[in-house]
Amino acid sequence: MPQAVTELPEYTLVRSRRRTLALEITPSGQVIARAPLKMSRARIQAFVLEKTGWIQAHLARVRRQNQQAAQAGKLTKEELSNLRRALEPVIRERVHFFAKALGVSYGKITLRCQRARWGSCSASGNLSFNCLLALAPPEVRDYVVVHELCHRKQMNHSPAFWREVAALLPDYPARREWLKKNGPTLLARLIDE
Ligand SMILES: [Zn+2]
Repeated sequence: MPQAVTELPEYTLVRSRRRTLALEITPSGQVIARAPLKMSRARIQAFVLEKTGWIQAHLARVRRQNQQAAQAGKLTKEELSNLRRALEPVIRERVHFFAKALGVSYGKITLRCQRARWGSCSASGNLSFNCLLALAPPEVRDYVVVHELCHRKQMNHSPAFWREVAALLPDYPARREWLKKNGPTLLARLIDE
């Protein structure tokens, strides 16, 4: 870990057919720079250097969250399957409730214990939810359900999409913020694959 703020932070460069340069910090605290195929190394380094403060603040947060998670303990396979079992009827009920309110249909509902995401909605309307939502407050769970169901109307995160979310949950920004802040601590309780 670099000590001085002016030192270039360690990062992994991943090039792909994208147009913009972006930084990402993984749950394990790895810094990834995603860059277009032909962007010069110098430009990428300058960008990373410029973002040093941001990187260090985020790394500190990730470390703190992983520490908290370590204190709370990793969840065993049995605990996870109990969480999933407890959550399933709740999610089904909330999906049913909010789908009706939105006037949308949906397909299969799957619960997964995974680090990658809190929920997803496929083009055909199959929904998946993270079983760690069992450890989140009910209003946050509802936000994830509403978020995924609104994708039945808008398959994107456009202003129109957020208007749909806000129509049902006017206070969604606070719920979303909770997930941003506390979500990583929950996710870190999953056993590393
Ligand atoms: Zn979404």
